Amino acid sequence: MKALALFSGGLDSALAIKVIKDQGIEVIALNFVSHFFGGKNEKAENMAKQLGVQLEYVNFSSIHTDILKNPVHGRGKNMNPCIDCHALMFKTAGDLMEKFGASFIISGEVLGQRPMSQNYQALEKVKALSPGLEDLIVRPLSAKLLPESKPERLGWVDRSQLLDIQGRSRKVQMELMETYGLVDYPTPGGGCLLTDPGYSKRLKILEQDGLLEDENSNLFHLLKIGRFFRFEKGKYLIVGREE
Ligand code: SF4
Repeated sequence: MKALALFSGGLDSALAIKVIKDQGIEVIALNFVSHFFGGKNEKAENMAKQLGVQLEYVNFSSIHTDILKNPVHGRGKNMNPCIDCHALMFKTAGDLMEKFGASFIISGEVLGQRPMSQNYQALEKVKALSPGLEDLIVRPLSAKLLPESKPERLGWVDRSQLLDIQGRSRKVQMELMETYGLVDYPTPGGGCLLTDPGYSKRLKILEQDGLLEDENSNLFHLLKIGRFFRFEKGKYLIVGREE
């Protein structure tokens, strides 16, 4: 039995992999790469090594920019289109299942961790937005609080060994990681760059100027590294903060 994992390299997705892997299930960790998160990084690689799983980078930047532009389910507080973004990750992972010979998908989502995108309805909505996969998504950290999935029903995964974590605190996850001896993970944060108010404000200006397109992705990257001044549509000054 093999599973694909949505893997940011952080605490929750690492723990989700550990819980499944401890059942003797092979896991392949997918790190999604967009203009705003993911990509080759030492932390994710170290964690994958500690977990003993294969790490694959999946670049979906272009299609991610499309959902950023038109998020059917709206955005969070900033530019983050979390519900559509998660659904896109599941869909993309679903498209890769055959290639990797995987039977189901896991993620480190935790019930109630984010008020907008990880409440019960949002988690169910993300599943419903992943046609054909609804029943093949397992969320090991909160599984006992969620409806049973096909892998649990058919005994591919032992539901009794899954967890019932909920809420915003990361205390339980951190304690479990310590028990497992997995200590070197990034400090749990609030999400990707699109959840950052300052960055979102600058990106919003590009959106208002009609430039939120994949072909302008060099601008998305420049906004990360310099001070940003707008003169008029399409005319900007970006000043490096460092040398
Ligand atoms: S925080 Fe960023 S990466 Fe995570 S679901 Fe939201 S938009 Fe996607």
